[in-house]
Amino acid sequence: MRIAIVGGGYAGAAVAVSLLKALPLGAAITIYEPDEDLGRGIAYARGPDHHLLNVAAHTIALTPGDEGYFTDWALERYSDAASYREEDGAYFFPRAWFGTYVGEVLSTEMRNNPATLVEHRREIAQAISLAGDALTITSESGRSSYDKLILAIGNSPTPPLRVLEPIGSGDPHVAQSAWGFDPHVVSRDASVVIVGGALTMADVVASLEAMGHRGPITCISRNGRRPHVTVGYRPEFVPADGLRAPMTARELVATARRWSEESQEQCADWRPCVDFIRVNMRHLWRALPKRERSRLHRHVRSFWEIHRYRMPPAAHRRIEALAASGRFNHMRARVLGVVPGGVRIEAASGVQVVSADVVVNASGFDTSYRTAPASIGDLLSATGISPTIAAWEGLAVDDDGRVIGANKAVFRKIYALGFFARANHGDLATVNTIGGIAAGIAADILS
Ligand SMILES: Cc1cc2nc3c(=O)[nH]c(=O)nc-3n(C[C@H](O)[C@H](O)[C@H](O)COP(=O)(O)OP(=O)(O)OC[C@H]3O[C@@H](n4cnc5c(N)ncnc54)[C@H](O)[C@@H]3O)c2cc1C
Repeated sequence: MRIAIVGGGYAGAAVAVSLLKALPLGAAITIYEPDEDLGRGIAYARGPDHHLLNVAAHTIALTPGDEGYFTDWALERYSDAASYREEDGAYFFPRAWFGTYVGEVLSTEMRNNPATLVEHRREIAQAISLAGDALTITSESGRSSYDKLILAIGNSPTPPLRVLEPIGSGDPHVAQSAWGFDPHVVSRDASVVIVGGALTMADVVASLEAMGHRGPITCISRNGRRPHVTVGYRPEFVPADGLRAPMTARELVATARRWSEESQEQCADWRPCVDFIRVNMRHLWRALPKRERSRLHRHVRSFWEIHRYRMPPAAHRRIEALAASGRFNHMRARVLGVVPGGVRIEAASGVQVVSADVVVNASGFDTSYRTAPASIGDLLSATGISPTIAAWEGLAVDDDGRVIGANKAVFRKIYALGFFARANHGDLATVNTIGGIAAGIAADILS
């Protein structure tokens, strides 16, 4: 059997690991991934040790049921691992460590299964074609045929900030992607504007602190909110009336509020309620008609995200201390673009310019995939999957990652996972949910 995986970030690597654990003799896996490393992607890229995982290490499972392995591996591997221990005993390790771990698990599985050939093709898959039973991928080196294909293209890079007027001699210096931001281009007293107020903003702040920055930092986000802090150990919460999936966005929000109060009473914490919603997300999401899903997105997405994607405790402490000292300011505004001397914004008080020596774009990935390495149109137009729907709503996949077409027909040869496959899951972009679907894909292929 010939299997292609398009995308070799965490999701692609997780599928490969699950397949290798069980593949019959004579199979071949080709992973299309331009990056040198498999298993990292943007999230777990090689990077500084102050960019932390936002989930406690003991909860992370690369394949279902292996929670705890990563913690043991890290404690044995890194002499300073104990310094990442929080008061409650949970570890929040650097994200790059997790990327190293995933790469090593994959290498180990490859060694354990020498009869399966794994090829890392460092190319972008440009087009996929499915005609009858013939499945092919076109890349720089030509066309190759496969029996099964897994789309694991992940997230698309940050769209650039608009530059509204020519900027003379680097004033301000603009880092168009926070994920590639080198803090050493910043002088220690520079005033820094960070566009975006979510977890990537916290990474930028951590990088600035680590290089000894002492100037003012202004964070600008549309909602003016920052993610809450997470805790490593949380009790389990189940609402008294169990899981009932509302049919409208309004009803779902009211239910979530009630659950949150219940969670607060039962566990003295609202976070277990968020865990409960997350675990049951696909049931809640699937019960909502399309119109109600859009309504939910429009009205409560950012509110949900600050509760759902929480800061690791160390990052939260750092930002709160900076805010208390007056060096960190969070503004609620729409960023119009970069102009000489700073950033033009539209705030409640009107249009104004926030002065900056350095502007860092931490506005998150491009959810419409315009910045993807291969255009979604080129990639999917010869498959029978609608590229437009895929780019805007994500692909619909079942619990084994099989792509579901517009007419509800299940594709037998094409699977998908990760953020690109969110349409039917609501939330399919974190380690454990991706790992669960990866195992389902492997089981389905082998069955
Ligand atoms: C900065 C950041 C921090 C995060 N932190 C956490 C965390 O702490 N905990 C957590 O659970 N989740 C976290 N996440 C969520 C994270 O997205 C997922 O956990 C997971 O890494 C997603 O993996 P992926 O493989 O789906 O996507 P990606 O990591 O985006 O990988 C996709 C890969 O596909 C490749 N690709 C794309 N198109 C093509 C093509 N046409 N041909 C060939 N290759 C292609 C890309 O080069 C890329 O390497 C974080 C995300 C980000 C961005």
